[in-house]
Amino acid sequence: RDKRTKKTKTVCTFCGVGCSFEVWTKDRKILKVEPTENSPVNSVSTCVKGKFGWDFVNSDQRITSPLIRKGDAFVPASWDEALTLIAEKMGAIKETYGNEAFGFVSSSKTTNEDSYLLQKLARQVFGTNNIDNCSRYCQSPATDGLLATVGIGGDSGTIKDIENAGLVITVGANPTEGHPVLATRVKRAKKLRGQKLIVSDLRKTEFADRSDLFLHPKQGTDFVWLTAVAKYIIDQGWHDEKFIQSRVNYYKDYLKLLNKYTLEYAEEVTGISKEQLIQTAKMIHESTGTCILWGMGVTQNVAGSHTSGAIANLLLITGNFGRTGTGAYPLRGHNNVQGSCDMGSLPQWLPGNQRLTDNAAREKFEKAYGVKISEKSGLTNIDMLKAVEDGKLKAMYLMGEEMAWVDSNANHVHETLSKLDFFVVQDVFLTKTAQFADVVLPASPSLEKDGTFSNTERRMQRLYKVLDPLGDSKPDWMIIQEVAKYMGVDWNYSHPSEIMDEIASLCPIFEGVSYDRLEGWNSLVWPVQKDGTDEPLLYTKRFNFPDGKARFSLTEYVPPIEFTQEFDLTLNNGRLLEHFHVGNMTNKSKGLQYKLPEVFVEVSPELAKERNIQDGSLVRLISPYGSIKLRAVVTDRVQGKELYVPMHSVSHESAVNLLTGSVGDVRTQTPAYKQTKVKMELI
Ligand code: SF4
Repeated sequence: RDKRTKKTKTVCTFCGVGCSFEVWTKDRKILKVEPTENSPVNSVSTCVKGKFGWDFVNSDQRITSPLIRKGDAFVPASWDEALTLIAEKMGAIKETYGNEAFGFVSSSKTTNEDSYLLQKLARQVFGTNNIDNCSRYCQSPATDGLLATVGIGGDSGTIKDIENAGLVITVGANPTEGHPVLATRVKRAKKLRGQKLIVSDLRKTEFADRSDLFLHPKQGTDFVWLTAVAKYIIDQGWHDEKFIQSRVNYYKDYLKLLNKYTLEYAEEVTGISKEQLIQTAKMIHESTGTCILWGMGVTQNVAGSHTSGAIANLLLITGNFGRTGTGAYPLRGHNNVQGSCDMGSLPQWLPGNQRLTDNAAREKFEKAYGVKISEKSGLTNIDMLKAVEDGKLKAMYLMGEEMAWVDSNANHVHETLSKLDFFVVQDVFLTKTAQFADVVLPASPSLEKDGTFSNTERRMQRLYKVLDPLGDSKPDWMIIQEVAKYMGVDWNYSHPSEIMDEIASLCPIFEGVSYDRLEGWNSLVWPVQKDGTDEPLLYTKRFNFPDGKARFSLTEYVPPIEFTQEFDLTLNNGRLLEHFHVGNMTNKSKGLQYKLPEVFVEVSPELAKERNIQDGSLVRLISPYGSIKLRAVVTDRVQGKELYVPMHSVSHESAVNLLTGSVGDVRTQTPAYKQTKVKMELI
């Protein structure tokens, strides 16, 4: 082997499964990606993104030096110039408008250590809890529903526990394309162990084709069918009375709430037949254990949190927690959604999932940071933009987040971002969001840094630096440390392991986490005790409430947003296998971009016939918020008047968030991306 050839272990950044593998390189050239049997999640598997999605790191579109806005253009600058400007401008805003004039947004693509430091910058240096991360756009409702019922917002167990289930139910998720290696493991369990599968989705995906039962509810009605199935199970006496009596609170109240959710009502609201609802209940009753997995089809609705609670309710009445093969599994989309939330990049949480309102926890951080921390929740991403509109929030600092295309109602977001007095974006590329910035700081992607990620299972794994940072770019944690220093606070971390040591010292759930324990292929699933014992399967003895009992979620159905009749088509959106998120990394990876160069709109055969649309026809979709232009693909994956547009548009003319609106989940504000109506014109 050539001496310049080396292999380095890393963790994939393209979804929450958390595959790890070795990357073979020669200088900056990526020779191959090799999964090995050592990986705790994927063994020798990866999907196409993990294998071929990395040449974006050598893209000539990378930012390799800080950029400062001069009029309409950006000019390259030294780190000293950029950091001096940031300190001057942000210092002046702090002086004039106070701490609440700032908003910080972290990304679930960055490491645990990066995310921890950004919240520390917000709380210690700028004195604000206005810190959020991109889970606000996806997983906050799932976390909320689980916190209210079982007390921990993460997955109940691991992918191994999902494999051990007798029945897997997926709701509003497309694991084949969104979480491919997890999907493969479920498919294998089905083939080898006869595991049963129910898929509930608007689209008839590849995963749905493999299911034993496919449910096709009307958009935004999952709460109703889940609750009606729970009622039917109780009515039949198929529930686990002993489990409920000994381990769950508020049962009587829950029974009262169930009254109206009859099969007839559910059939009328959801469009799922009574027979299918009964079959679902029967399959749960007959199974040795049930796991429910859900995605954005649940969370990105006005009732995303309530529906997540309804999922937990269904599992609670059937005793499906605390054993392998049971539990609730929100499928984290970004690789580090779990981690960036765990690290306190949230307006109401300190690191380690400790509430701001917990006096002892807050005082611990106050002592460590040497500042007062308000117990009052800060602003969410969504509220930050409203505060910009109101003239209260003057400066924002974004780390790795493409807010301009990810947030809903993109035209409005663009207008709002342009109103900021001062805007710093830290990213790998000059993204659409960065184009509104005053200073852009060049960050290094995951292959150019050390750190840890936490996957959908709560599993923490180390990634090692494969390549040196390109040009003058730096790992995010180093950039944040520089900003703190220029703001007059002396941080001296020389390696991310020191940041993790600090996290472990302040957070009981990470007490036993250290880089030594995570060396190589080792991993830990939090909570981790001081002696390094971790807890892959939760709730074996108690739920995470003071009395150890779970609580039924007592919320009611919230119907979908109403539109005027003019907008007669239902628009759904999501991922495709080849791309990640809005695509700003994978669309710069040549192999993936070649496989899927541009997005399209899926149109059902019956609608295509009615509107005289052919495969390849150019159409315009118009919503109350904007319009996009793209080509039609006629397919029976979608039915009737339902359309589907992938979210990875290369051309800004076809970005689906130009169509989505500003209404959000009733508890978490997560935009109801999935509740969009449009009209369609043939061009
Ligand atoms: Fe694994 Fe997800 Fe990466 Fe694919 S995208 S290799 S499933 S972590």
